[in-house]
Amino acid sequence: MDGWICPLAQVPDEAFASGLLGAGLALDPLGDVVCAPAAGEVISVHAAGHAVTLRLAEGLELLLHFGLETVRLGGAGFTPLVQAGQQVASGDPLLRVDVNAVAARAKSLIMPMILIEAQGWDWQPALEQGLVAKGDVLGRLSGGMAAEVSLESAGLVFAQELRVPLAHGLHARPSAKLAACAREFEARVTVQIRGQSAAITSPSAMLRLGVGHGDTIELTAQGAQAEQALAALVALIESGMGEYRAVSEAAPVVTAPVMAAKAPQAGDVLRGVMAATGIAIGRAWPMQRPEPSLAQVSAGAVVEQSQFDAALTALRADLAAQASQGSAQQQAILAAHLALLEDEDLLARVRDAMAEGASAAMAWRKVMWAEAEALRALPDPRFAERAGDLLDLELRLQWQLCGGQPEAPVPPEGAILIAEDLMPSEVAALDLTRVVGLATAKGGPTSHVAIIAASRGLPAVVALGEGVLSIEQGADLVLDADGAALEVAPDGLRIAAVEGLIAARAKRRAAALAMAGEEGRTSDGTRIEVFANLGKLGDAAPAVANGAEGCGLLRTEFLFLDRQSAPDEDEQAAQYGAIADALEGRPLIIRLLDIGGDKPAPYLPIAPEENPAMGLRGLRVGLARPDVLSTQLRAILRASVGRKVKIMAPMVARVEELRALQAVAQAEAEALGVALPDLGVMVETPAAAVMADALAAECAFLSIGTNDLTQYTLAMDRGNPAVAAGLDGLDPAVLRLIAQTCRGGAAQGKWVGVCGGLASDPLAVPILIGLGVRELSAAPAMVAEIKALVRSLNLADCEALGAQVLQAASAGDVRRLAAAFIGGQA
Ligand code: PEP
Ligand code: MG
Repeated sequence: MDGWICPLAQVPDEAFASGLLGAGLALDPLGDVVCAPAAGEVISVHAAGHAVTLRLAEGLELLLHFGLETVRLGGAGFTPLVQAGQQVASGDPLLRVDVNAVAARAKSLIMPMILIEAQGWDWQPALEQGLVAKGDVLGRLSGGMAAEVSLESAGLVFAQELRVPLAHGLHARPSAKLAACAREFEARVTVQIRGQSAAITSPSAMLRLGVGHGDTIELTAQGAQAEQALAALVALIESGMGEYRAVSEAAPVVTAPVMAAKAPQAGDVLRGVMAATGIAIGRAWPMQRPEPSLAQVSAGAVVEQSQFDAALTALRADLAAQASQGSAQQQAILAAHLALLEDEDLLARVRDAMAEGASAAMAWRKVMWAEAEALRALPDPRFAERAGDLLDLELRLQWQLCGGQPEAPVPPEGAILIAEDLMPSEVAALDLTRVVGLATAKGGPTSHVAIIAASRGLPAVVALGEGVLSIEQGADLVLDADGAALEVAPDGLRIAAVEGLIAARAKRRAAALAMAGEEGRTSDGTRIEVFANLGKLGDAAPAVANGAEGCGLLRTEFLFLDRQSAPDEDEQAAQYGAIADALEGRPLIIRLLDIGGDKPAPYLPIAPEENPAMGLRGLRVGLARPDVLSTQLRAILRASVGRKVKIMAPMVARVEELRALQAVAQAEAEALGVALPDLGVMVETPAAAVMADALAAECAFLSIGTNDLTQYTLAMDRGNPAVAAGLDGLDPAVLRLIAQTCRGGAAQGKWVGVCGGLASDPLAVPILIGLGVRELSAAPAMVAEIKALVRSLNLADCEALGAQVLQAASAGDVRRLAAAFIGGQA
């Protein structure tokens, strides 16, 4: 094809530039069809479509590798025009490339052309550098006597089976690195898979094996240094060589056909999970993450250890310096990172790996990635999301080790940042003033990224799936976080509508904030308390600034989730007191630990359960572990003195559970000589909703946890993406239970609140008020707007809406009725 020729040494990729894969040259393409530069047989077309190998008529092999790191595109942008086994003449088309699509995602478009197994051949390029047109002569090969290959065949044979953890299998670059590693030993090493084998020193033969992620291969080594060679190669492969992705325990039974990920087209809408509220119009900016170059081979344990120590010291100093300048939130994150760097167990494992012969870079990577994988495998998404912190630190130390510093990429004005996942330090380093939204393929709604996005007022959608990574740079996007959607190149009408929404939203928010200090009341004067849900001390001040009249749910388990040992009474009392004080006299409802189910805590191990959502969870754990319950109750009781504190019990299903709790609480209060604060019950099980009157008769208030009430009513696991679409708290089945709860509370003269997600959903607010709810505890960022909405409502109208939606057949119908109602009020 037409293009600009340059020597291999100029290819910005070590494996190609160093000649590890073989001699040859590179072409910066000026076309979109790669044609055969010589006649021969196609011996392989890579599954990802980016590489074709020909066996030339003269016997040697030629690899055409389009772009750098293009194997990661999984086929997107490549249409092979030939198959393995096909004969081609010089000039025949081999591969069609969607250059724009590839350019948006690949490190480079440059195409190395490599002669492999060319021992005995002499390659003379026709030109070193310059413009060439299709059909021009690139160079000449002469000779052709195969070089004598002498390999030690004596010695014991060693063999080992392993699974390949490289995300894209053993493609060109890792094959080249393996070949280089193998050449350092006096041994012949072969790789076997599916009845075929290849010498590990031949990257082209390795490519033909088509070893993919998770495949089991067998390495066989023979020769004087067979054992050492095998150990080094296995360690290299197991390290993931910079492309690690965990391999699941069970081998896949059925292998699905590999489908090239389709690049999203204009008009496509990608669905994810909201991580921070808002809506934005912008242009796609897929973030490219610079990669440090890792020393693969150890220079000796002592040297590696001292280099590692130096890098560690430098990184600690860096983090400390950064923390001294950052916001309170950034400081908290950096402090967590610093603590990780002090983790003796972690550091000991790195030292052991170096002592066993790994380089500092490989040892650190192996330990940190294993740690991150272990976190990711935990059922609680909060832990899984912390894996991002570990990977972040891993990279930062690698940069220290290789002596370079990554340059923070500069986003263009109005960018919607797209990434697989975002690490806290990357977000902190970016100039977010130019960014209007964040969209990630992975991640969870409570990750640090979500926290930072929310604190900057940026909409963010996570878990959009791999498809988001194929969006072309510069594509027009609408990021609708509230709709949990990313719209690709929407039409002009939609853009105009969103512009209207953004302007209206800004106006609404400003007006809501201006009135945030006022009491929550409907237009007819009905008092509706608008509270905020808190998970840590730092949430309290922003909640108050947004107009929170108190805290309707302090998730105490979140205060101590990352603890290895149970927090003691003093520690708990201090936290609760500090949070109450940060609310400046406003009421604080402290929920007893809600551990179990989807929220395990390391310091309170619960035996594995068949069905944890229905097992030992919430108050049931407290009653099964009276020591834990009593410690927490004493801490709350101590913090309650002179403060407006109430206690709330999670996951109550039966009146007996409430009575048992009251007995313990009463005894602790008497022992401490303090008055027992109001004690309320969370209505999260259908049983509690149905028995609300009986519960209300014996407690001070009811607060509906709509997240759990919805999952238990609809029998849909709140963490299972397969049923996520149906998991709507506005389902009439849930609403009927909410109505029954409100009737039960009213019958006993007790107030009923909502502290689940429905309290932050504007469509739900008039319905909840109409059904009898008098306290709404929302996400802190939503408080001002929920208060403003409450002010616009009239109780009688809400009651009519409440009666109407109880007769609806589906959540969709309820949402339509509520939208029409709110539209009519506006
Ligand atoms: C709920 O279930 O609605 C609730 C508020 O509790 P959590 O989300 O913490 O389970
Ligand atoms: Mg709950």
